[in-house]
Amino acid sequence: MLVTLARRTELATRAGVRFRRVFSASETQMLRESVRAFVNRHVAPYINQWEEEEGLPRELHKRAGDAGILGVIFPEKYGGLDGSHKTFIDFTEELSVVGAGGLQVSLWTHNIALPPILAHGSEAMKNEVAPAVIKGDKIAALASTEPSGGSDVANIKTTAKRDGNYFVINGCKTLITSGSKADWISVVARTGGDGIDGLSLILVDGTAPGLTRTKLQTMGWRCSDTATLMFDDVRVPVDRLIGPLNKGFKMLMETFNSERFLISNMAVAFAKVCLSESLDWAKQRETFGSPLIKRQVIRHKLVDMKTAVVAADAFLNKIAHDLDARAASPADLSMLKNHTTSMLEFVAGEAMQIFGGAGFVRGSKVERIYRETKVLTIGGGSREVMKDLAARQMH
Ligand SMILES: Cc1cc2nc3c(=O)[nH]c(=O)nc-3n(C[C@H](O)[C@H](O)[C@H](O)COP(=O)(O)OP(=O)(O)OC[C@H]3O[C@@H](n4cnc5c(N)ncnc54)[C@H](O)[C@@H]3O)c2cc1C
Repeated sequence: MLVTLARRTELATRAGVRFRRVFSASETQMLRESVRAFVNRHVAPYINQWEEEEGLPRELHKRAGDAGILGVIFPEKYGGLDGSHKTFIDFTEELSVVGAGGLQVSLWTHNIALPPILAHGSEAMKNEVAPAVIKGDKIAALASTEPSGGSDVANIKTTAKRDGNYFVINGCKTLITSGSKADWISVVARTGGDGIDGLSLILVDGTAPGLTRTKLQTMGWRCSDTATLMFDDVRVPVDRLIGPLNKGFKMLMETFNSERFLISNMAVAFAKVCLSESLDWAKQRETFGSPLIKRQVIRHKLVDMKTAVVAADAFLNKIAHDLDARAASPADLSMLKNHTTSMLEFVAGEAMQIFGGAGFVRGSKVERIYRETKVLTIGGGSREVMKDLAARQMH
């Protein structure tokens, strides 16, 4: 029996499912062109300089907000585009052409900070935070990882103790993306007993007294802002609690799914850049009297790279579809992250080989992507932890 779209929407609304907008081919083309224009005008001429200076200008967020880039998967109600995960893939591909992961993770840090607020925060908090972040006026970050470890979330040591109408936060967070710039930081802190049932998410203002932030120097994502945050008796009004008390662990797990999709998305997009850069290079680079592309060994490398990219792209698009249908499990996201990031390690390694010494010179896209493969296998859940999580869900 055929179910009409209206009926499907009604059933879905009752079940709490939100359909995302699916854009036509011409709309998709227009959206892609707008992101491309942003990249060509505001990013490509400066990205190498920003990487050397280790920072993006603050106004880039505003420009990205104006171009609709910051709200791609967020509801229209808050200024977003309400795009599907397929649209998210399109945007990521356009942003990835400069081959700098620090760009995406900086512009999209709120992709991990906003979901818990939108899913569990009060109306007042949603209306205060989401539109300002999606417009690019403010930056939001998520702080979970601590110096004692990031994988073992259940063991978080930062505390938030109730004192009248305030939480008083003490502890340390590290490796936090947008950590020194963020106007709002969703902090995972212990409000209850040991283990996962004692954790809450609390929204902390970046200007709160007692909060000190130190930028870290990193191997890759150099234009991004990765920081350590110290909380020394930071007082936060109790209405900054996101969702119910002691329910932070589940919220965090939900937002990790968004993060794992973002990382997988970046891995596939960067592999496509490595492939096209390698193909161009192989056509123009001559050794022993003929272009590299004429050598069977190089052609086979390119075919192996393309085969890996196409397979990972299909997996990514399948999970994008499942996410929109609310049918993707944490195990799916874990396997996707491991598959796409391993694929990128292979493709970027082969690209470096095809480039030879030229690939080793700092500033080329392939060099940067290769240098930044490792962080994708660690951040947002390390390869080992992803495998363990997926294995635990096998029946
Ligand atoms: C550039 C960058 C940006 C980041 N941004 C953020 C951010 O915005 N917010 C945030 O909260 N965090 C952020 N992180 C932290 C990131 O999420 C953690 O690095 C990650 O979760 C791993 O934690 P860890 O580095 O403490 O490693 P650990 O947890 O100490 O693990 C170290 C190694 O041991 C392995 N391991 C751990 N436990 C097991 C086990 N049980 N079995 C087998 N192997 C195990 C891990 O796989 C890893 O290889 C960022 C990290 C980086 C590098």
